[in-house]
Amino acid sequence: MAKKKTAKAESHEFQAEVSKLLHLMVHSVYSETEVFLRELISNAADACDKLRYAAITQSDLLAEDPDLKITITANAGAKELTIADNGIGMDHDELVGNLGTIARSGTEAFVKQLSEKDTDVQQIGQFGVGFYSAFMVAGEVEVVSRKAGSDEVWKWDSDGSGQFNLAPVGAKDAAAHARGTTIILKLRDDAEEYLEASRIETIIKTYSDHISFPITLTVTGAEDDQEPRQLNAASALWTRPKSEISEDQYKEFYGHVGGMFDEPALTLHYKAEGRHEYTVLVFVPTQKPFNLFDPDRKAKLKLYVRKVFISEDAEMLPGYLRFVRGVIDSEDMPLNISREMLQNNPIVASIRKAVTNRILSELEKTADKAPGTYEKIWDEFGSVLKEGLYEDMERRDQLLSLARFRTSTSDGAQRSLKAYVADMKENQTAIYYVTGEDQTKALASPQLEGFRAKAIEVLVLSDPVDNFWITSALGFDGKPFKSITQGAADLDTIASDETTEDAEPEADASEFGTLIALIKQTLGDDVTDVRRSDRLTDSAACLVAEAGAMDRNLEKILAQHNPEGMPKQAPVLEINPRHEMIKALAQSAKADGATSDLEDAARLLLDQAYILEGEPVADPAAFAARMSRFMTRRMTSTAS
Ligand code: ADP
Repeated sequence: MAKKKTAKAESHEFQAEVSKLLHLMVHSVYSETEVFLRELISNAADACDKLRYAAITQSDLLAEDPDLKITITANAGAKELTIADNGIGMDHDELVGNLGTIARSGTEAFVKQLSEKDTDVQQIGQFGVGFYSAFMVAGEVEVVSRKAGSDEVWKWDSDGSGQFNLAPVGAKDAAAHARGTTIILKLRDDAEEYLEASRIETIIKTYSDHISFPITLTVTGAEDDQEPRQLNAASALWTRPKSEISEDQYKEFYGHVGGMFDEPALTLHYKAEGRHEYTVLVFVPTQKPFNLFDPDRKAKLKLYVRKVFISEDAEMLPGYLRFVRGVIDSEDMPLNISREMLQNNPIVASIRKAVTNRILSELEKTADKAPGTYEKIWDEFGSVLKEGLYEDMERRDQLLSLARFRTSTSDGAQRSLKAYVADMKENQTAIYYVTGEDQTKALASPQLEGFRAKAIEVLVLSDPVDNFWITSALGFDGKPFKSITQGAADLDTIASDETTEDAEPEADASEFGTLIALIKQTLGDDVTDVRRSDRLTDSAACLVAEAGAMDRNLEKILAQHNPEGMPKQAPVLEINPRHEMIKALAQSAKADGATSDLEDAARLLLDQAYILEGEPVADPAAFAARMSRFMTRRMTSTAS
């Protein structure tokens, strides 16, 4: 009580990012200003949801005024639009924190995208800063709020420039302000259209029809004052029969529940009956939500129990399905379940399992029946789904069959593993892959040459997440995964498609043997082995890893993350017996033995193989000196 007596007006600065956002709202001209109404109504509905949840354990919070509702008043005379709810309300500290001094995680991201103009203002809800859209249409915004259960009423107001004011509302006025929040917008001259009943009605029909609390509109101060009338259907969309829901209504709901305004790529609406009863209405977006790669990686499905909103953090789906948006409404969970208890609740676990299965099988169906749609989903969310390949062993095979890959022969098209296996060459026993930082680099690997020559398909793995699953993946359809830069290539056993193959003859076997022995001797511990390559056609040499060792690209990527983590394995140097230079070297090895020339050549071959991998040579000065020696010899021998 003492606090109430001393409470007085105060001013606060907006947090820096919020200030930037407000500056954009106030000064930029956006074509879709109408989204402000959707955002404020959505906040009002959330506030009603929150109160209904709180009232499960504290029924007196609802007692005096049990019918939750949203009331819009357009006052044409005063040019004011008011959006009021009798929901949870905000106290002093919540007004300060929520409306200005604490930036939400999406604020910076949204400001950045808005200023770079690759996001339209429609998306504001997704970033958790919808309230501020009010400043697109209002020169001044007032928020009067009474927190449920409190007798204090506070007024927040601002013109959006730099700071906001907060003042306690005197006892007399406070008595007139029942529970909840009223937002009063003093509309700018160019926004007076939002005082027209028909305009408001259209917006609400377009965006907010599904809101499950009644929204009523009252028009005053105009020639044709209108009695309050309800504008929306006010029944939770997912409870209606599918046949009565239009595509537009689904889309509008998706916008509300996911804060996303693209077209959903997939809509899944069903009622599960059996051991547990629940309704599912979920969407797969067409675009990535901005926070898809946030470190918490949590799925944000909304959990309801018999239409009462319980939580958005119940992790109703595994992390690798976190791009899915929507609601699950359980019929048989206890209403008074605390958010903490959700974690270990067996019904939650069972619903989670069933819904995960259902979404995956729906994706399979889409891949089968609408491959074009599925390809787009995979392009956007494939790298998230692939997290499941190492997180969800139970569904690994299913996820592998959902996976799509670009390959060395697919010319940019996506290929499934099923298609890969069906097209495997005679005697091919493994699914080959090449890793790399990006597609172009991976496709430039010299190790691919032999595979290309025989038209053997190789999966191109250039997504960072590939490094995690491929190392533990056992295979697909009984065929192991095999890196083309690891172990023996076994290419000799696989027949070529080309009948007119006239490959270069190889170096003489005994000369070649001597060359290999001499190179080994020169390179010592810098290589694990030196051997003949059957995976090269054009290049003279390349590096590979021993059969049991880690793929070289993977090793590189892991070393970037953790430079001191692993001792680096010396590579195997493979040399191409058909290459002219190697043949010449083999001849001279046999004829002259270990000369300093041959030593230089061995070192240069190793350096060259590193360069082909995009790696620096171990000793650039020595490399340059050797190179110069070689060139000098060549030039002087031609000159003489
Ligand atoms: P979001 O609604 O996405 O969280 P907003 O910027 O629209 O972001 O709102 C910020 C916060 O302010 C909300 O999370 C909520 O806590 C609070 N808030 C806004 N409007 C209301 C309201 N009508 N009643 C109660 N709290 C509200």
